[in-house]
Amino acid sequence: MAPALELRQISKRWADGRPALQAVDLCVQPGEFVVLVGPSGCGKSTLLRVIAGLEQADSGELLLHGQPANHTPPDQRGLAMVFQSYALYPHMTVAQNLAFPLKMAGRSKHDIAQRVAEVAQILQIEDLLTRKPAALSGGQRQRVAIGRALTRAPGILLFDEPLSNLDAALREQMRIELARLHQQTGATIIYVTHDQVEAMTLGQRIAVLQGGQIAQCASARELYQQPVNRFVAGFLGTPQMNFAPAALFPWLQPPAGAQELGVRAEHLRLLAPDSEQDGLPVRLAHGEYLGDCCQIYVQHAASQSRFCLRSKDDWQTMPPQGKLVPEAAHCHFFDAAGRRLVSSS
Ligand code: ADP
Ligand code: MG
Repeated sequence: MAPALELRQISKRWADGRPALQAVDLCVQPGEFVVLVGPSGCGKSTLLRVIAGLEQADSGELLLHGQPANHTPPDQRGLAMVFQSYALYPHMTVAQNLAFPLKMAGRSKHDIAQRVAEVAQILQIEDLLTRKPAALSGGQRQRVAIGRALTRAPGILLFDEPLSNLDAALREQMRIELARLHQQTGATIIYVTHDQVEAMTLGQRIAVLQGGQIAQCASARELYQQPVNRFVAGFLGTPQMNFAPAALFPWLQPPAGAQELGVRAEHLRLLAPDSEQDGLPVRLAHGEYLGDCCQIYVQHAASQSRFCLRSKDDWQTMPPQGKLVPEAAHCHFFDAAGRRLVSSS
């Protein structure tokens, strides 16, 4: 089967010459859930709008279901888009909002009623069908907006930060519902977010965008464990990966060209200052009690390097000085350009 979407070397510049997208390659298989993630301004919405046909690329090829589609008008691409702002029609009921795209497509009353009922069931909004948007909570509105995108059974569903207006608890719940929706419908989904947790939990594959380029496209595990560069390493994971000069850790035998060491909080241990093990002498700078663990911030005096580590021990009972020991198997080294060095051994 042809990929649902294929982008080949898609590039775009804004009128003032700034690059918006740079040689983007992306292939999305039918039924796949792909997330585009990156910091604000990295080009996520632009890329989604190019896919939707709302923006034109300057160069490169866009194929939908194997067919060239660079010049296909947006309404003939078989896509539906859900935005951060729900854009429901305020004067229409939920049922009318859901029916609207079908009505526009000239579908019969019977077909429309059946499809609206199906979609309402999938999204568990059957009780809300007679309400107007003003009488819905934020989460309910977002569910209706998703439902409206689903009614026409689009070939590809595009989401642009659909949960960012919701509070944290609701976001978590909607995240789980979106995963269920994907399983239930088998829809092909391309989902934009700046939230790395959303990206990691939802995406079967995640494309990390950096300045209009895809830095890496892989599963959450691969991105987390084998980031290609410092940007990807630092973007995914909370707390952020610790970075420090590689020269501080000679016993870890940094590979040739290594500039920086990167190690995550869960891969650092704090031992007593007189421990026999190789480690970096540090002093305790700050601690945070998180319930299931403590986040401890330590500092190496000579280099001013700071590290955050996680420990099951309460930081309040720890001595003020210690030896910081990174787990060798989980240390990454980056060269001066920020590329991760893969040891040849
Ligand atoms: P994201 O969705 O990742 O936050 P966008 O794709 O919206 O980023 O924008 C990427 C960059 O392109 C930003 O620097 C933004 O200011 C710029 N940009 C977006 N739309 C336009 C436009 N129509 N004209 C010029 N610059 C734009
Ligand atoms: Mg955006």
